[in-house]
Amino acid sequence: MSGVVTVPRWRAAVTSAPVRRGGLLLLIVVLLLFPYVEGNDADIDSLANAAAYASLALGLNIVVGFAGLLDLGYAAFFAIGAYVYGVFTSFQVMPHWSGFWQPFALLGLVQKINQGGPDLVHFTLSFWLALPLAALVTAFFGVLFGAPTLRLRGDYLAIVTLGFGEIVPIVARNTPSVTNGAAGLNGVQAPTLFGYNFTVQATPYYYVGLALVALLMFASFRLRDSRVGRAWMAVREDETAASAMGVDRTRFKLLAFAIGAAFAGAVGVFYIAKLQTATPDMFGFPVSVMILVMVVLGGMGSVWGVVVGAVLLSLLQSWFLPDLTDWLHMLGAAIGSDWMQQVDLARSIELIFGILLVLMMLFRRDGLIPATQRTAALSFSAQHVQGVARGGFDRALAERALGIPADPAGNLLEVRGITVRFGGLLALNAVDLTVPAGSVVAVIGPNGSGKSTLFNAITGLVPAESGSIRFAGREILGLPPHRILARGLARTFQNIRLFANLSVLDNVLIGQHARLTAGPLRAVLRPPGTRAEERAAVMRATDIVALFGNRLAPRIAQPVSSLSYANRRRVEIARALASQPQLLLLDEPTAGMNPAETLELAEQIKSLHALGLTILIIEHKLDVVTQLADTVVVLDHGEKLAEGRPDQVRRNEEVLRAYLGRAAREALDAA
Ligand code: ADP
Ligand code: MG
Repeated sequence: MSGVVTVPRWRAAVTSAPVRRGGLLLLIVVLLLFPYVEGNDADIDSLANAAAYASLALGLNIVVGFAGLLDLGYAAFFAIGAYVYGVFTSFQVMPHWSGFWQPFALLGLVQKINQGGPDLVHFTLSFWLALPLAALVTAFFGVLFGAPTLRLRGDYLAIVTLGFGEIVPIVARNTPSVTNGAAGLNGVQAPTLFGYNFTVQATPYYYVGLALVALLMFASFRLRDSRVGRAWMAVREDETAASAMGVDRTRFKLLAFAIGAAFAGAVGVFYIAKLQTATPDMFGFPVSVMILVMVVLGGMGSVWGVVVGAVLLSLLQSWFLPDLTDWLHMLGAAIGSDWMQQVDLARSIELIFGILLVLMMLFRRDGLIPATQRTAALSFSAQHVQGVARGGFDRALAERALGIPADPAGNLLEVRGITVRFGGLLALNAVDLTVPAGSVVAVIGPNGSGKSTLFNAITGLVPAESGSIRFAGREILGLPPHRILARGLARTFQNIRLFANLSVLDNVLIGQHARLTAGPLRAVLRPPGTRAEERAAVMRATDIVALFGNRLAPRIAQPVSSLSYANRRRVEIARALASQPQLLLLDEPTAGMNPAETLELAEQIKSLHALGLTILIIEHKLDVVTQLADTVVVLDHGEKLAEGRPDQVRRNEEVLRAYLGRAAREALDAA
């Protein structure tokens, strides 16, 4: 079947590769030649500043754009990086000289100086060493700030980061012995390269800034297109679903915070080396807001977008607004308006940011360069190709793609006496459930009887008050959802929880998260092993999508939000299958499907069963249940009402009373 289905290329390119490559090359040449064409130091300096802001925006983009964590105090990390360099290169902190400093002097990190009193230590940390060092230190602070706060959601996190953003400059202001307080550090050392001192010229800083932006863009792209980036985006799109699909959300949120902070730390070094001073005012709340506005303006999550946004806003401030102000002054003088002669637009920058943001929200919410490129709609013929998988999955393809582990004997899942309470509501009362390996067990019951809650308890999404849940002989009760998935339990949700803004392929790739290994370092460096892992993951995901025939294969690059309801259900099943589960939990998979689609899905579930997958399914359609299930468990008001073969349960009087409604009950009573 895979031979029939044509799968569009991954991340279908809008423009062809040679055109884009040519454009990029041209841009690089122009940027490199700029200082020779434009001799004005002030203009080159403006661009160097723009590079610093672009780098900051790239860092914040990892936190806000990739991982979806609103950080209102990002400048705090900028400040920490700046002071790391500032303190260790200026004449601010000078302890007494002793033999302890001798080795550092040999490494060139300190000098012995004498200003008339005892010998003192003067720190002379190299700029090039300070860049990675400050990044490490700020990453550490990122973890320190993040660890207690990242369990908070949305608004709370924003408030806490706002607090940190305020605290850091205040600490800097109030520890004059280290930072020289509000007056600021003086005499911060300029970088030297092979004996050439940058001093206060703009051009060398411009080139370092360019290199920094290029490096951070490269890292951003690599991270985005990796297991790490996908995990961040999964957390951003739906935290619960992400953790149910195997993403350790706390860890990945912390990681985003730490990497974002590291970027800011390095930029802090660059910025302070360029200015050769640092005052607490340079890192206040307005700076955090400005960086955030750059990210929003450019397009959250879009690497090119945030760079363009940052450069535009930064140049707006340093080039455009002063020019416009001069022009207004002249106009004011010409027409005799005092107000016009005094206005200073650069002073009203916050007002202008506000207006810009409002305009963006009204007219272009995704930013100047949106992160999710619109994919072209499918052609009529592509939509109507008849390649619908009848009679279940193609066996050979399914065996290759799914890699279902050989089924162990005995009971795969044993739930004993599970009790779940929501406040005063007893949602599950001492429920037992046994799922033998290789079987299909169906859970039925009226709405609100606790079926989904049972699934949530098994997959670790709601805590159980008492009881035990053993999977493959080991207790899983109390484990976080991502560890339960890693054990081999995957699920779908009653109210579909996909990562809506990501493509079908990315959704299925996130399903494989727990089976892949690349961390942030390998994501950026991409050694051969990581390349191979990624390639195999994409192939497997493509195969799994191809199982659903032309329902999904032509849509593999489309964002999930553009799919039909039935197709979203299919993607959710594909995503769960991608995690190579031993036990698949399906919560009302056919809800909202028409009879033909229901039949198609029932056949597919049957073929999964035939391949040896164990399945626990919540289902309302009794014909589907009868067709699929070996055992049926009936829940009512959180208690198990009956259990048995489908035909037994169908005849059970209590079940009929509770489940099949008044007509059946009356018929029974009449009999
Ligand atoms: P079913 O899936 O069988 O329709 P559920 O398991 O979704 O039923 O719900 C069982 C009961 O628990 C319902 O009364 C529902 O309102 C309640 N419930 C489910 N989840 C929550 C929750 N997170 N908080 C409070 N009550 C809940
Ligand atoms: Mg339910």
